[in-house]
Amino acid sequence: MRRAGDGASSTSYAISPPVVTTVPVNGTDAAFPVARVFCVGRNYAEHAIEMGHDPDREPPFFFMKPADAVVPTGSTLPFPSQTEELHHEIELVVALGEGGAQIPEEKALDHVFGYAVGLDMTRRDMQAVAKKAGRPWDMAKGFDQSAPTSPICPAARLGHPSAGAIWLRINGELRQEGDLDQQIWKVPETISYLSTLVELRPGDLIMTGTPKGVGRVDRGDRLEGHVDGVGDLEITYAD
Ligand code: MN
Repeated sequence: MRRAGDGASSTSYAISPPVVTTVPVNGTDAAFPVARVFCVGRNYAEHAIEMGHDPDREPPFFFMKPADAVVPTGSTLPFPSQTEELHHEIELVVALGEGGAQIPEEKALDHVFGYAVGLDMTRRDMQAVAKKAGRPWDMAKGFDQSAPTSPICPAARLGHPSAGAIWLRINGELRQEGDLDQQIWKVPETISYLSTLVELRPGDLIMTGTPKGVGRVDRGDRLEGHVDGVGDLEITYAD
């Protein structure tokens, strides 16, 4: 199959090809191109409990958002359609610089380009209906602008954080607070396991789950997220 960017390609497109979504990289003018966005469900015990699940009995599971759901820090976003229960989930985001399948845990961190702070915005009301009816979560999780993401901090500079505070404030009030060391599936395990399900690609982002304290976002709210050492994220929802 011929892809855009192949050296010898002279493909003439019937319509304009999609624009590549990018995320800025701290300390450089080069942008990180987003391939796909994978998300880990229930990766912090206290969040699993608040959602009514037993954290000890569940293997990791994944869902996805489209690449163009990624929007930059500083954005003012329209309030999403078809929800009256928009929820915030603050997360550590892993940005892959190298792809691969069947990646062993001990090699997994070699595939990481860097880390960012992300929000897995969720139409919780729609997700509850989907769960009850046994339907997919896509429209509850993968809607437009559902993945605000901070600039990426390169692992070459940062290293690989396995501990450190992660928090979210709304209008200055603390709503979510945890530590990366509370993750049930650690980053190398998550990469390794995901790579048994799909062949990972350079440019893939992995949102690694949220600590306790998820809750409602209203029109006009200002969200500030933080992960120690990694960075900060700030977005506002329009009135
Ligand atoms: Mn999440």
